[in-house]
Amino acid sequence: MSRGRERCEVERFDRLRGAVPARPHDARAIAALAANPGCARRAVMDAAGVDKDATATHLGFPAPFGQSPFAITRGNAFEALVKDSGCAELLRLLRELLGLPIPLAAYTDLGDIGGNPSAHLRHAHTLKLIDRAARDDDEAGTLYDHPLLRLEIAGHTSYLEPDVVAFRLAGRFHIVEIKSFAIVDGQAEPDKVAAAARQAAVYVLALRTMLAELGHDPARVSHEVVLVCPENFANRPAGTLLDVRRELAVLRRQLSRMARVGAIVDGLPEELTFDLAPDADGVPTRPVPELREAVRTVGARYAPECLSTCDLCFFCRDEAAAGGSTELLGRQVRDALGGVATVSEALGLADGSLTPGEGQEEIARLLRLADRIYAEAG
Ligand code: SF4
Repeated sequence: MSRGRERCEVERFDRLRGAVPARPHDARAIAALAANPGCARRAVMDAAGVDKDATATHLGFPAPFGQSPFAITRGNAFEALVKDSGCAELLRLLRELLGLPIPLAAYTDLGDIGGNPSAHLRHAHTLKLIDRAARDDDEAGTLYDHPLLRLEIAGHTSYLEPDVVAFRLAGRFHIVEIKSFAIVDGQAEPDKVAAAARQAAVYVLALRTMLAELGHDPARVSHEVVLVCPENFANRPAGTLLDVRRELAVLRRQLSRMARVGAIVDGLPEELTFDLAPDADGVPTRPVPELREAVRTVGARYAPECLSTCDLCFFCRDEAAAGGSTELLGRQVRDALGGVATVSEALGLADGSLTPGEGQEEIARLLRLADRIYAEAG
């Protein structure tokens, strides 16, 4: 991209966001990008660093997220248990899962550099130690606690902090994700495992980017992530390996789409802004109908998965319901009804009261068939 074009894009994003600093992306937010890669609304707002949580609240549809204090306390206690005594429990799991043949491994806490918590400094320190670890050929295992990684998201730098990076023997790195949801009889809730895999993929990508910047082979960061959870409602940690290749591919696609979001932005009205126009106390003064119109200007692609991944989910669900969108029915149904935008259109095609448009002949035939089968069965 030329310098001029880059400057124009930055100015355009600043206008879209309004007079507030861009909201940084944490790993959870970046992981959520991969949950609905086809949504232009999310791509534009995230690329511009818009505070979607504040936008949703001002629109009257506050996001349903936020962990209960109880869940946070339980999560912190479990993480402390896994990391106690230089990660003794974690080492036990790593020996089982990765075949670490040594009884002990070095433990390095990167969380605090001589009392200086600056993200820049912590990242530089992580960079130095990961470089040294990647050069070292010795057989020692090393655990890095609180490393600070970095990813560029549509021109903004986001700092990310995985729970631990385990450095395996022979120079291979594994990301470790510590989660407090339970594994019962070898099974965990699929939605929670999927979310953990998406989040871990962000760390894998960030660590691979770091290795590449340092001149090492990024493939030395394994696509197999170690997921550590409590087992059978007891607090005993159990570990399993998660293959995050699919999540990595989706994430890469979505990030490159965000880098090319300029093409979507070019098609939007020049005066469009999501500015909340906060007063001196930070309270938004933007008229709600005006903001609603602004948000609706950018096409959304609502799916039920949005309910667990995007701050705007209640707003977009309401919008999709008002328009009778087939997207409300979930991705599978939406994809099966490709080219049929609303439920009333699908019903019209099914009972023959609507003539199929160009390209809708096949789906109309299937809908009529389904309608006939239901009528015969009923
Ligand atoms: S909630 Fe709305 S903006 Fe967010 S990903 Fe879903 S459709 Fe897109």
